Amino acid sequence: MIPGKFEYHIPTTVDEVVALLGEYGDEAKILAGGHSLLPMMKLRFAEPAHLIDISRIGEIKGIHEQGGTVRIGAMTTENELIASELLQQKCPLIPAVARLIADPQVRNRGTIGGDIAHGDPGNDHPAAMMALDATFVLRGPNGEREVPANGFFLGTYWTDLQQGEIMTEIRVPPFTSGTGYGFNKLKRKTGDFATAASTVVLKLNGNTCADIRITLTNVGPTAFRADEAENILRGQVISEALIEQAAQQVMAVCEPAKDLRGDEEYKTHMAAEMTRRSIRDALARAKG
Ligand SMILES: Cc1cc2nc3c(=O)[nH]c(=O)nc-3n(C[C@H](O)[C@H](O)[C@H](O)COP(=O)(O)OP(=O)(O)OC[C@H]3O[C@@H](n4cnc5c(N)ncnc54)[C@H](O)[C@@H]3O)c2cc1C
Repeated sequence: MIPGKFEYHIPTTVDEVVALLGEYGDEAKILAGGHSLLPMMKLRFAEPAHLIDISRIGEIKGIHEQGGTVRIGAMTTENELIASELLQQKCPLIPAVARLIADPQVRNRGTIGGDIAHGDPGNDHPAAMMALDATFVLRGPNGEREVPANGFFLGTYWTDLQQGEIMTEIRVPPFTSGTGYGFNKLKRKTGDFATAASTVVLKLNGNTCADIRITLTNVGPTAFRADEAENILRGQVISEALIEQAAQQVMAVCEPAKDLRGDEEYKTHMAAEMTRRSIRDALARAKG
């Protein structure tokens, strides 16, 4: 349970991080809150020779609104997301998700950027980001690029983040009137990852579902979007019968791994149930 030897760097700007990543290549790892990386280092699943601690970089912390988007610095902690009045007003799904992550100690240090960049199928922000149609800002040796959350998660612990890049910011469109969300997460106990979780963001036009995104956590190699289930509901007046059809469609696309939280069949059924609940919650919130 003791990590291998490493050299510790503590830069104060993003430019310095990019320079260090360029200098040390795949021997370097960014350290944010450390709640995923340090356990992996203690188990020797990760043995970086250089740790680049980004906790002193002010430019990647905090939450503000600019140019019609809510912008969240990658180094913003879960507790800061929970406490944000701006997020409560503009994008309440994010604090709702953060509130159910791990335990108070983890939420005090764990960051939204680390949760996304880690690419863990059990992490909760990836599915939320896809449901919100968020964009990630990545900075590397060739400058800055913006990538949509949809398409960023490529597989287990595998994202579109390239070697030499740091995630600096998460951009989220604020909710408009008629938007509702649902986030339902089944977990065995406080501090555990999801057995299955479902996130729904929908927009009503009158009584009709003008748009909807349904995303799932920990029932596949990575968080993913249930497009076919969305198609059942988009353009319709949502009824219990349609919710059931969407839930059945979710079951058809789940590929959970059997583990201590349950077998494939149980997790698949739980993903469907979390989805039924999230659609109902989103609908109720959208109606106000
Ligand atoms: C007991 C326990 C329970 C947990 N339960 C949950 C849960 O239910 N839901 C959930 O979502 N998470 C859960 N987590 C994970 C937790 O939220 C972590 O904090 C999170 O996964 C990683 O964030 P971090 O800031 O700690 O990143 P770190 O552990 O420091 O880094 C994680 C990875 O991301 C990379 N990285 C970090 N920041 C950046 C960046 N800005 N740019 C590029 N790469 C970066 C690192 O190099 C590393 O590879 C749990 C953790 C623990 C210990």
